[in-house]
Amino acid sequence: MTKLGKKTKVFFVGSGPGDPELITVKGRRLLGDADIIVYAGSLVKERVLKYARSDADIHDSASMNLEEIMKVMVDAARAGKKVVRLHSGDPTLYSALREQADILEKEGVPYEVVPGVSSAFASAAALKRELTLPEITQTVIFTRLEGRTPMPEKEQMSELAKHNATMCIFLSIGMVENVIKELKKGYPGETPVAVVYRATWEDEKIIKGRLKDIVKKVKKAGIERQAMIIVGEALEGKISAKGKRSKLYDKGFAHGYRKKRA
Ligand code: SAH
Repeated sequence: MTKLGKKTKVFFVGSGPGDPELITVKGRRLLGDADIIVYAGSLVKERVLKYARSDADIHDSASMNLEEIMKVMVDAARAGKKVVRLHSGDPTLYSALREQADILEKEGVPYEVVPGVSSAFASAAALKRELTLPEITQTVIFTRLEGRTPMPEKEQMSELAKHNATMCIFLSIGMVENVIKELKKGYPGETPVAVVYRATWEDEKIIKGRLKDIVKKVKKAGIERQAMIIVGEALEGKISAKGKRSKLYDKGFAHGYRKKRA
């Protein structure tokens, strides 16, 4: 077996939500340098691969199992090649990062994780909404509905809904009726909810509604995959009577960089 070269590292890189301009400068540089790229097929749009060298060896992990993926990456790293593992959005959310990282650690292959713009943030930007609003909510929950991956008991969606915080729901649009049924156990039916299909792609679609009517709208639009569901009072069109401006830019509020004004 080839000895591990000094500088070989596997880079897990977040590709961002789809728009090729939303990869980080670092991610783009690493892609451009890579000898081998393994990308997560369905959502990493092939167009970010345009930053890759024309002679790079490119693998779509959609048709590979974990052992096959890891063999490609470990062998390449050991041969002194530059390896990039490309994930959609940010690699620390729903990316099976940990199981890959654990194997690299076991094999003694060093690695680094390069963040990306999560689809949760791309969706909030598409909606032009701040996920945290003073005195409305200061908390964001990233979650999903139970699918083949069971949810821990304390994280049942109906339980999380009781906080009435902003919630970004991944991987669940195919079960939108169940999502809404669970959310209604905690949020009032009037709570705003939005579905963003393929945020930042050319065919991005935004559906806005309230818990009481969103299912019909989503069905009508025919959205069944690749969508983010965001729910919470923070999506409301105007800051409601309850809402307050932040202290950050309040003229009556002083901080380290600004004096208080009358
Ligand atoms: N690591 C990724 C999430 C991977 S899980 C991230 O940070 O975005 C895949 C889920 O992410 C999809 O089921 C969908 O809910 C969401 N998703 C990924 N890309 C999206 C996009 N461009 N627009 C809306 N939702 C997206």
